[in-house]
Amino acid sequence: MQDTHRHRGLRQKLINELRTKGITDESILSAFMEIPRHYFLDKAFSDWAYKDVAFPIDADQTISQPYTVAVQTTLLNVKKGDKILEIGTGSGYQACVLSYLGAKVYTIERQKKLFDKTSKFLQDIGFGQVRTLYGDGYLGTPRFAPFDKILLTAAATEIPQQLIDQLKPGGIMVAPLGSGDIQQMKRIIKNTDNTIREENFGNYRFVPFLKGIQE
Ligand code: SAH
Repeated sequence: MQDTHRHRGLRQKLINELRTKGITDESILSAFMEIPRHYFLDKAFSDWAYKDVAFPIDADQTISQPYTVAVQTTLLNVKKGDKILEIGTGSGYQACVLSYLGAKVYTIERQKKLFDKTSKFLQDIGFGQVRTLYGDGYLGTPRFAPFDKILLTAAATEIPQQLIDQLKPGGIMVAPLGSGDIQQMKRIIKNTDNTIREENFGNYRFVPFLKGIQE
């Protein structure tokens, strides 16, 4: 893996594009600048890493579009030291963005092949502090709960109560929700009295949130 001036230039362009689309948080933009997104794609497709599109990775899954990663990260309002659970590790890119921002990141993947590949890869690129878990994200991870924030990166038809239960009072969950091809980006705030407040942030398209694990 090699990171060159050309790659940095492409990242700078991507960041300018994200700015024009309304991403203003400088710490998030610097995460995009400092994390070589082309490492997360097969080498043959490295130029695609800096286009603002989703892209296929292993096991019929996708690395989310940069803009979508930036929006979900913005909605999470990440603070240094936040304990965050990501559901849907995929390529590991989103987890690295959260880790770069100073969060303590736990991420769950249901596909064994992706889990193995991404766990090793995160070690190799110096993001070994991200804690990768193999399992069904529907169940969250009671062992490491509660979390300040939970991020779902697959499309759910409803939010499992187990996940809400694993959120601290005052915690935030960001999740694409919907039953058809298109989902609504939701931010769910768990009030200190454990009631829920939900806000809507527009339409997105994600791969499905599937029950159970795949060996
Ligand atoms: N965050 C990823 C994008 C992931 S795409 C990235 O930055 O690259 C969504 C991922 O969610 C896929 O890898 C898919 O296998 C995973 N997924 C779907 N349902 C899941 C479940 N129940 N538990 C854990 N992971 C799940």
